[in-house]
Amino acid sequence: MELPFSESYRIKMVETIRKSNLEERQKWIKDAKYNLFLLKSEQVFIDLLTDSGTGAMSDKQWSEMMLGDESYAGASSYYKMKEAIFNITGFDYFLPTHQGRAAENVLFSVLVKEGNLVPGNSHFDTTKGHIEFRKAFAIDCTIDEAFDTTCNHPFKGNVDLEKLEDVLKKSADKVPFIIMTLTNNSAGGQPVSMENLRMVRQIADRYGKIVLFDSARFAENAYFIKLREEKYKDVSIRAIALEIFSYADIITMSSKKDAIVNIGGFIGMRDDELFRQCCMFNIMFEGYITYGGLAGRDMNAIAQGLYEGTDFEYLNTRVKQVEYLGNRLMEFGIPIQQPIGGHAVFVDAKRFLPGLKKEEFQAQTLAIQLYLESGVRGVEIGALMADRDPITRENRYPKLEFLRLAIPRRVYTNNHMDVVAVALKNVFDRRNELTRGMRIIREAPIMRHFTIELDLV
Ligand SMILES: *Cc1c(COP(=O)(O)O)cnc(C)c1O
Repeated sequence: MELPFSESYRIKMVETIRKSNLEERQKWIKDAKYNLFLLKSEQVFIDLLTDSGTGAMSDKQWSEMMLGDESYAGASSYYKMKEAIFNITGFDYFLPTHQGRAAENVLFSVLVKEGNLVPGNSHFDTTKGHIEFRKAFAIDCTIDEAFDTTCNHPFKGNVDLEKLEDVLKKSADKVPFIIMTLTNNSAGGQPVSMENLRMVRQIADRYGKIVLFDSARFAENAYFIKLREEKYKDVSIRAIALEIFSYADIITMSSKKDAIVNIGGFIGMRDDELFRQCCMFNIMFEGYITYGGLAGRDMNAIAQGLYEGTDFEYLNTRVKQVEYLGNRLMEFGIPIQQPIGGHAVFVDAKRFLPGLKKEEFQAQTLAIQLYLESGVRGVEIGALMADRDPITRENRYPKLEFLRLAIPRRVYTNNHMDVVAVALKNVFDRRNELTRGMRIIREAPIMRHFTIELDLV
């Protein structure tokens, strides 16, 4: 008999989590204005709000925390992080930042000007926020297949090369860079193929444009390339990652994802002049250029995490757990984005709640119902997150309304996944009774979903 699949690690420390009852959850979610971001984490049983900064660090990462040296300038931990970034990505200039969006803020302060167009596959919410905050426009050129959740395309994160080239043909002078997000988070944690990255590089070269990779989940992307792109089946994750990064001029990375730390990020660059310009903003916004808002111990943990996060056995454990949850949901007939993504299962809320109008925020309604059912917290990736159009101020309704169930790394067991699956099945069984959606009471002008206040219609 073939041995069954199991985790590539064992547990060394645990944290108690507590269940609650329906009555408590009804009160808590009302007090939180029906916004799951406003709940206290102790009011949550299984927390799938995000996979960002929620992973379990390893014994080696915790040891590195003790070894990190806390010098304002030139700490050994800075050099350790620099070496790890060079080894894993090939980039030799880097600036540490306190997280991924801070890297965007520093870099875009140099590169993005009013009226610019920034094309790419689907932009992450903070990335789009930082572009629109500068009165520029994020243009989503993701392939059409990504917007049909039943279509089983192996690389739904890909950019449509024709859509991309169209933007460049019409307005190349307004494009400061092309951005590729690995994996494509908003489309469902979907990978981009190496072939697609290579073609993007070619197009960029033809128009003399910079290519930026927003690479929070580069290792999960490399894992999918190994499994799904024939040519790479015998190539190591590290070698695949190095080839991926060879197609970029600049990278930003939130280390809270694939580097499995609780805080941190960075910008990787090749150009000396750009590096100098970014240094100024890093000092202004983040901290000195050799710590950028991080403690030395954090930089050591990132360095160690970059190696662990690109280990095949670890990635296999990680992605297989996400797949396990997705498969359980499919067994119950629950509609999800297919194929199952790298860091999360994306439930198709439009197909789950077809009776509810989009103006009543289907995915948010579903997220609230799952919480009420079980204390499981997911997150809306839909119309609330899409914000209003910066010019018309009308609500933007994206093609897809998702409830995202993001799985923290090395944290939960498959028993927890079973609880999530059955809880969502129970909601699915009573979906026809869910006829009341949500309405907005108060909202911020940009990235409103984090703080929005809602009520039942
Ligand atoms: C998380 C994330 C960011 C922003 O990083 P933070 O560390 O949360 O600030 C940017 N892009 C992508 C694709 C991300 O997943």
